[in-house]
Amino acid sequence: MKKGKKLYEGKAKILYAAPDKGTAIQHFKDDATAFNNQKKAIIEGKGILNNRISEHILSSLNHIGIETHLIKRINMREQLIKLVEIIPIEFIIRNIATGSLTKRLGIEEGTILEKPLLEFCYKDDSLGDPLIAREHIYAFNYCDVKTLNFITNQCFRINDFLQGMFKGIGIKLVDFKLEFGRTRKNESGSTTEKILLADEISPDTCRLWDATSEKKLDKDIFRKDLGNLIKGYQEVARRLDILHEQTNIRPIKFTKPIAVKIKKK
Ligand code: UDP
Repeated sequence: MKKGKKLYEGKAKILYAAPDKGTAIQHFKDDATAFNNQKKAIIEGKGILNNRISEHILSSLNHIGIETHLIKRINMREQLIKLVEIIPIEFIIRNIATGSLTKRLGIEEGTILEKPLLEFCYKDDSLGDPLIAREHIYAFNYCDVKTLNFITNQCFRINDFLQGMFKGIGIKLVDFKLEFGRTRKNESGSTTEKILLADEISPDTCRLWDATSEKKLDKDIFRKDLGNLIKGYQEVARRLDILHEQTNIRPIKFTKPIAVKIKKK
């Protein structure tokens, strides 16, 4: 598929124009960033894994009636998507307390929440994506009551489904971030505006812990220097049973040769 001009470049993805009106090509980069861009690295193969994992999750959600922007994956790093206007809110769903929630409110790390908690953050890197209330969303018209109620309902449905999906492969879904967008009228063959799940769902945007060892299999490996991020993401893909194809991710190289002493008899 012929890529058109670059429409937008974010921290982990690039959006290009696609041949059909109302569609775009979403390209997954290997760039990793954390702490509002203060920590950066390029991690070879991350984009390929996120493309594949996100495709799998969004298609599974589609099967249970959650409409998403995904049309199809077109190659190792790219997917064809419906072009949407992103609602400037990050929807954070939490099942277990960690990360900014523990810091902000002093909640003990690892506390299992009685009910899933939905938080709203205003999407603005220069402000550090601040936490906002429902009232801010209405006051500044980020979206209307009907849309927010619809999205809230979608968030909990998605959480239910994903918690079950991950539980089945021995992974705890600790928390994750969702973004939603509006299709523009008369585009994507639609005459009405629709709210679609957009962006990505991957170990970059979720916290995923092994159910028994609580070993981290997500971007916290990078944030907290816990080891090899690719191994964690590959483990998620392997358990989801989507690591069949050749991903062209080079095997991890040892920087120092391993010396083996052979005792002479
Ligand atoms: N998250 C994300 N993008 C963001 C902020 C958060 O994908 O810009 C995800 C993050 O990976 C985690 C969840 O949302 O799964 C909750 O993040 P938290 O607010 O605890 O972020 P922290 O400040 O600890 O990174």
